[in-house]
Parts: sequence; structure tokens; C-alpha cells
Amino acid sequence: MNNKELLKVAEEFGTPTYVYDAASIKSQYEKLVSSFQKSTKFFYACKALSNINILKYVQQLGANLDCVSINEVKLGLKAGFTPKRILFTPNCVDLAEIEEAMALQVHINIDNISILEQFGNKYGATYPIFVRINPHIFAGGNYKISTGHIDSKFGISIHQLRHIERIVQSTQINVEGLHMHTGSEIKDTDVFLQGLDIMFELAAHFPNLKYLDMGSGFKIPYQDGEIETDVMALGKKVHKAMTDFAKESGKKLELWFEPGKFLVSKSGHFLVKTNVIKQTTATVFAGINSGFNHLIRPMFYDAYHIIENLSNPKGPERIYTVVGNICETDTFAWDRKINEIRESDILVFRNAGAYGFEMSSNFNSRLKPAEVLFLDGKALLIRKRDEFEDLLKNQIEIL
Ligand SMILES: *Cc1c(COP(=O)(O)O)cnc(C)c1O
Repeated sequence: MNNKELLKVAEEFGTPTYVYDAASIKSQYEKLVSSFQKSTKFFYACKALSNINILKYVQQLGANLDCVSINEVKLGLKAGFTPKRILFTPNCVDLAEIEEAMALQVHINIDNISILEQFGNKYGATYPIFVRINPHIFAGGNYKISTGHIDSKFGISIHQLRHIERIVQSTQINVEGLHMHTGSEIKDTDVFLQGLDIMFELAAHFPNLKYLDMGSGFKIPYQDGEIETDVMALGKKVHKAMTDFAKESGKKLELWFEPGKFLVSKSGHFLVKTNVIKQTTATVFAGINSGFNHLIRPMFYDAYHIIENLSNPKGPERIYTVVGNICETDTFAWDRKINEIRESDILVFRNAGAYGFEMSSNFNSRLKPAEVLFLDGKALLIRKRDEFEDLLKNQIEIL
């Protein structure tokens, strides 16, 4: 999708609007598939972007689905994924939610001793499950998005292996898969191999094992000079490790991954309009018709998104602080060189496909943006912009 096409979307659908380029999702998916052995499976982590059309598109590409809530499971089924193509990986849910997933016949991943024990006591070997392990590998971009560290709430600590075994033995739970997900934005592919080594050791303790799920953490570049996880190189190393393991152990396990960001981040372009240029003694603010209620990553994780001025791409570069309209500190970018921004200019945030719309809210009683899918050269509306009435939906006026 080029800038002209993006400007056309802004004209046709207004701003703020998220646009997703289907071709980019497809090429990222194909990149992954072609880097690993045919038997490797990819479960799209749909918490990154869960518009039903995106789910259907990813489903049609042949991917599977990783879900963290029962509602994501239901969305996945609605999008056409068969139950066996869905893995439910919740955290801190009650047994009732696990039971709902059982009724839907999807793969289930259990991530704490308490639920494992409750599940085992009630269902024993009748329904195979995955166990989510916390290997305590510190990986990923920063503390907030790393999930493998010692303070993390995710998974069952590898040091509790003996306890897991006790529960499995006394309740006959059928462990068909082991899972780990150590975080996001892992630059060093050796982290995955370190993880695999740990998995291989654990595998000996679970005789019914069929699947090893290595989660995600594939990095994509957010700014110039950053790298994308070299999935081709990773694929080769992983293949070797898996083959060696199969030879030594006589066990042939299927390998799974759960990419979220890697599949959809690049596809997303967030279009906004500049409302105000405000010169202060300290800086020049470009105030836009959006805020952290629409794209929270910069305020939440100090994330960096490239911002370009689509309306004045040849203008002289000036230094801006790009801010939103929310009444709280709401900064998208500091000291950013952007082609001269004039009031009404359309700006684009790159790499806005993952955890963009998905984390949006109505804070400040602002309306959520529209979403558009760019498919086969056509821009199609896939979510209407919120309307005023949406703010009152579900509220009960008692006064
Ligand atoms: C969020 C999440 C993912 C996806 O992570 P990305 O960094 O978006 O690829 C995969 N697996 C689980 C269990 C997750 O919670």
C-alpha cells in the first residue's frame, strides 16, 4: 500500500482510521511458513488484532489461532477455525472458563498449579492439555513485555516440575503439549534454542507429549536501523535441534509458534489529522485528532512508531513533539524530525497493526476509530467509527 492509497483512505473514510494491508499479512505469513519445516504450525496470537475480517483472512491463509480469552476462542470459531486449529492459552482464569473451552473442543493450555490440580481431580485423562512452563529466561524488549522473568505471573515455574509431575501422576492428566512464551521483541534467536533445550529436557517427563509450543517473541523493526527476527536462520537452527532431538530420544514432536506482532504489525497504518500547531518556548507541538486512547503503545511501553506527514512529504524537516487530545500526558513522539506539519495535514503512524486498535478505549468519551482493510487494491470498511450513541450503550439511566 503506498502513500497515495493511504491519503485516499483518509479522504474517503475520514480520520482517525486504522488501515490494514492484507498483502503485508500474507507476505509475513509466507515468510514464516517458508522458513520452517512443513510440519511446523503457526498459531496467530489474535490478541494483537482481532477484527473478525482479519481472523477470517488469517484463517484462509492456513494459520491456526492462539486465544487468551474464551471470547477470542468464540471469535476464532466464528471466523472458521476448526477447534483443533485453536489453542486456548489463558492466564488467571477460573476452572469454569477452562470448562467452556473444553465444551468447544479446543486445545487447552494450563498455566498454574491450582487449576492443574482442580482440572486433574475432576477430569483426569479424559481431555488432553498443554502445560505452560515459565523457563525463567529473560528475553524481550523490556520488563513490561517480558514474561519469562522471575517476577512474571505467567506459566508454572520450571522449578515446580516435580509438583507438576506429582499432579499428573496422581490424577492421570494427559499432557499432550508443553508451552513457553518468554516475551515479545526477542532480538537474539538463540533465546529460542535455549528454550528448546529446556523443552527437550522436560519432554522426557511427559510420555504422551506430541507438541512443543515455543510461543512468540518474533521481533519486527519499529524504527530505521532496527532488525526483524531472522526467521530463516532461526528455522534452520530449529530444524537441526529438532532432528537431533528426534534421533536421540526417538520422539517426533510437532513444533508450534504463536506469532502476533510478526504477522500484523507492519500491515497497520494509523491515519490521523493535525488539529493544531502550537509553538511554545520549549518546542513545537503537533496536536492531532487522536490520543493514547487510540494508540497506547508509546505511553504504555515507550514504544516508537515512525510518523510521516503524508500531506507534505517534500516539506522541510522540522522537529516536533507529537501529542494527542487526551487530558493527561499524551505524547506519541518527542523531538521527532518530520516534514513540516501544517494544520489539517494527514499524518501516518507506521507499524500500527498490532496492539493498536486492539488496546483502544473510549477514555475522555472519545470515539474509537474506524478500521479499513486494503484487499486486492480496494479499501473496505471493516469497522464503523464509533458514534455518540456507542458511549451510552449498556449504560442504564436511573436518574
Ligand atoms: C501475546 C502473546 C503472543 C504474541 O506475542 P507477539 O509479541 O505479538 O508475537 C503469543 N503467545 C502468547 C501466549 C501471548 O500471550
